Amino acid sequence: MSSNGVPSLSLSSGYDIPQLGLGVFRMEPDDATRVVLDAFEVGYRHIDTAKVYDNEEGVGTAIAQSGLDRKDLYITTKLWNADQGATEPRAALEGSLERLGLDYVDLYLIHWPAPAKDLYLESWLAMEQLHSEGLVRSIGVSNFEPEHLERLAAHSSTMPVVNQVELHPAFQQRDLRAFQEPRGILTEAWGPLGQGKYSLEEQCPGLVDIATKHGKSVAQVVIRWHLQEGVIVFPKTVRKERLVENFDVFDFALDATDMAEIAAMDAGKRVGTHPMDGNW
Ligand code: NAD
Repeated sequence: MSSNGVPSLSLSSGYDIPQLGLGVFRMEPDDATRVVLDAFEVGYRHIDTAKVYDNEEGVGTAIAQSGLDRKDLYITTKLWNADQGATEPRAALEGSLERLGLDYVDLYLIHWPAPAKDLYLESWLAMEQLHSEGLVRSIGVSNFEPEHLERLAAHSSTMPVVNQVELHPAFQQRDLRAFQEPRGILTEAWGPLGQGKYSLEEQCPGLVDIATKHGKSVAQVVIRWHLQEGVIVFPKTVRKERLVENFDVFDFALDATDMAEIAAMDAGKRVGTHPMDGNW
């Protein structure tokens, strides 16, 4: 447990990751600065961005203005599809570091396997090299299917510390998580609240009863469920009151009945792109 009350999980790289953070997908650069500064004030220390979100500079400005110690922050960014290859990841990471104003990131992810390009293995080998040079503390992947992870296992010397995938009560990824667990790959949830694309209350009405029982909001119950499932989670919001709400999840616990009820809500309902189709 860190000083701000957020539990940490141990990665196979030997570093710890705060289990709750803030995602900044679809945030304008200026918004990103304001929202990340608000988040730091609330107590968040883990920020999940990506080159393609086009707001690394905004996040970097917030980091610089915050006055917080670099060692107390956990910053993730991602290698975009167009930068995949044997040599391209170096310049891509250097660009991200410059925009973020950092000399290392805590976690660098391959954003999508982009199987039609067939460059994710070369990209991974390049990222292993960047890791060995200390430009990034841990390396991982996003939107990888078991076949992509198997290929890395067969041809590289390290496995990703995490796989960041779509995951929410209507799409729980049980098979993928069971595949990853014995391989030491932790799961990060993107779209943890269903991206606001469906109403959690309408899709999973049972959540309302669980929320009422605990005197919490449906969003808080869902975030708490991710944490108790051992998943790393960084819900996105630009609103200060929701930053506070989404962080206020450490004074209650879901019981075994709640957890079983939510497990039964899995509808196999993806709201985002299938990993095999993310070939932009
Ligand atoms: P999310 O599930 O976090 O949904 C965000 C939306 O939920 C908000 O826009 C708002 O409408 C709603 N919301 C937030 N807090 C709420 C609250 N307290 N009450 C009610 N509604 C609330 O979706 P996301 O932003 O797509 O996912 C989180 C993060 O995951 C992103 O910001 C990004 O960092 C990452 N991500 C990664 C990938 C990837 O391919 N690796 C894809 C999408 C997102």
